[in-house]
Amino acid sequence: MAGRTSALENTVTAISHNPFTATVLGLPRVGPRRELKRATESYWAGRIDAGRLHETGRTLRRDQYAELQAAGLDSIPVGTFSYYDQMLDTAVLLGALPPRVADIADPLDRYFAAARGTDSVEPLEMTKWFDTNYHYLVPEIGPHTSFTLHPGELLAQLREALELGVPARPVVIGPITFLKLAKSAGTAALERVGELVPLYRELLGLLATAGATWVQLDEPALVTDLTAEELAMVRQVYTELTEPADRPAVLVATYFGSPGPALGALAGTDVEGLAIDLVAGGTVGDVAAVPALAGKTLVAGVVDGRNVWRTDLDRALSTLATLLGSGKTVAVSTSCSLLHVPYTLAAETHLEEKLSSWLAFGAEKVAEVRVLAACLNTGTEAVAAELAQARAAIASRRSDPRIADSRVRARLATLGPDATERGPAAQRRQMQQDRLRLPSLPTTTIGSYPQTTTIRLTRAEFRKGEIDRPEYERRMRAEIAEVIALQERLGLDVLVHGEPERNDMVQYFAEQLDGFAATELGWVQSYGTRCVRPPILFGDVSRPAPMTVDWIGYAQSLTGKPVKGMLTGPVTILAWSFVRDDQPLAESARQVALAIRDETIDLQNAGIRIIQVDEPALRELLPLRTADQPDYLEWSVGAFRLATSGVADSLQIHTHLCYSEFGEVIDAIAGLNADVTSIEAARSHMEVLDDLNAAGFAAGVGPGVYDIHSPRVPSTEEITTALRAALKSVPAERLWVNPDCGLKTRGTAEVEASLRNMVAAAQRVR
Ligand code: GLN
Ligand code: ZN
Repeated sequence: MAGRTSALENTVTAISHNPFTATVLGLPRVGPRRELKRATESYWAGRIDAGRLHETGRTLRRDQYAELQAAGLDSIPVGTFSYYDQMLDTAVLLGALPPRVADIADPLDRYFAAARGTDSVEPLEMTKWFDTNYHYLVPEIGPHTSFTLHPGELLAQLREALELGVPARPVVIGPITFLKLAKSAGTAALERVGELVPLYRELLGLLATAGATWVQLDEPALVTDLTAEELAMVRQVYTELTEPADRPAVLVATYFGSPGPALGALAGTDVEGLAIDLVAGGTVGDVAAVPALAGKTLVAGVVDGRNVWRTDLDRALSTLATLLGSGKTVAVSTSCSLLHVPYTLAAETHLEEKLSSWLAFGAEKVAEVRVLAACLNTGTEAVAAELAQARAAIASRRSDPRIADSRVRARLATLGPDATERGPAAQRRQMQQDRLRLPSLPTTTIGSYPQTTTIRLTRAEFRKGEIDRPEYERRMRAEIAEVIALQERLGLDVLVHGEPERNDMVQYFAEQLDGFAATELGWVQSYGTRCVRPPILFGDVSRPAPMTVDWIGYAQSLTGKPVKGMLTGPVTILAWSFVRDDQPLAESARQVALAIRDETIDLQNAGIRIIQVDEPALRELLPLRTADQPDYLEWSVGAFRLATSGVADSLQIHTHLCYSEFGEVIDAIAGLNADVTSIEAARSHMEVLDDLNAAGFAAGVGPGVYDIHSPRVPSTEEITTALRAALKSVPAERLWVNPDCGLKTRGTAEVEASLRNMVAAAQRVR
């Protein structure tokens, strides 16, 4: 360590003019106890007025700024606070809301109408923010859009922060990313970037006048594959943005991957700073490859903003030293916004102490940034204790037996190539048909039935210890019996148990698998007021006991019709968890797959004849760069196959995918080798079926015949029409009849009416 200290001290002069040294790229906003969620939902329900909602926002921001300042950050992002979503905020900033909300006079109500719709207005579409689990609202750009600047909210947040004495750095989504993520009718949205440049220039001027010395423009789109034309556009746009003299210093933030050639494009402009994600793909090599970066401030994202692990500070320091050594001005930062991790470990009272020492949530990451910056600025002495503590935690994690379970590893090592193979598909189909004797166009559902208040209360009472296990099981069995009876009444062909015992399709399994831990308050915003609490995958995965067999077996005991066992697939379990960073994701996927495989075999032994393994997140983990995608598809498909190939050929494997735009994953769908695949299709008019045919898909398929995302009850006629449309692309012997997705968010009455019509439509078409 001594050698490194002096290397760092030698370069202290290089950073002494640094305008800031320690920062994070963005902040969570729902509140440490989801205060903003509650206030917003109260506002929607009419229980509080806009004044109260804004007051909650102000208090959350003020407390957050105070904490960050006390923690030693000398530049603090401002404007990443949002009442719903940062892309929507940017659309408001640029006057790009769709015309259908224009008549709503109140700005806050107009904003929420664009976010979530009203009785008469469709909301903006929502989709995933790069490869994270955050969802943004997709701006609609069209002939109707005439961009205008509305900087009021951002300027207000800036003034508020400056009045509190905060070293504020306003953050705005940059023009390239905003347009690349927008949806446009006709021409590519990006072609309109020329209209945005004057607005961003005006905005920079206004922010400077209001007192901002630095402004951060977020351009995560620069870590995706860009064409030569787009790269030229990046250079052009940032050259023009930085022309005026009366502006703040501009920091362009890239994250979620290596900026690659975009770095060269930006280096040729007058931007003062560049943020690089040195955790998720960016490297010191990227930086070294661009000599023109000298003279710019490099905001080095060495603390992982997206995952929950404690930083290896020694490794981060050596990265920083390399950057400094090449003569750069360096500030320490998180790799991306802290939006994607929980607020603080301090709120966790039940986490095992040892595991907790391996982790860093938002507040702990800020502390890591501060320690690293201190090392650069004043040497390691002052923070020796923190460094030692971090080192001990890293060592404790590395040596923990749970991260390398020899039984798990031995089992995986002995699996041969046949572990992912089943008999020929045609032969399986025959065997399954002989055994199941289903009518043509069999009807089924995707798994969950309405999660009524009673069900939720029962789970909560059990969790709090207010009822004991026998009582809990008695009540849940009663729910299952009711759902089975309902399905029998309706005349469905393949039944489900309804999933009343599941809080969440990933958490339910994570809680029962070794290698996962759960948090109490580890909430992360998924979209708007919806927050999730992803489990933490920390060790090798194994299944101490069957997870679903009692529930499914009970359901099957109540009926002569086949009950589908219901499991979540390995890729989805990983996609919705915080995953290990000490082994490839592919390896974790194989471990989870093995545990799911064990479950399928137990279900089979319990007499279950159909098992559905849901993989709604298969597309979500697709790497951002095309070059990385084939490898991902290979291991993710392999993990699914490992999970589902341990059963007899006569057992029918179903899978469910929650969407219909498969894009790059389309070939992988056939590769999953499931006997039946249900997908969303109601909203895309069955067009997806032709795409599947073109990709060589020849197994059973259940294109959702009605949209479960709305409370509307579909008529028998419209479902009949949908089925006839599907039959144009799929022969009757391969077609299944089911809704788009699970029914857990719907009401009992509408579910019953909808399914009755669905069964009637299937009978009519048969
Ligand atoms: N089986 C799950 C359900 O029905 C599937 C949910 C999903 O695809 N997201 O709820
Ligand atoms: Zn679904």
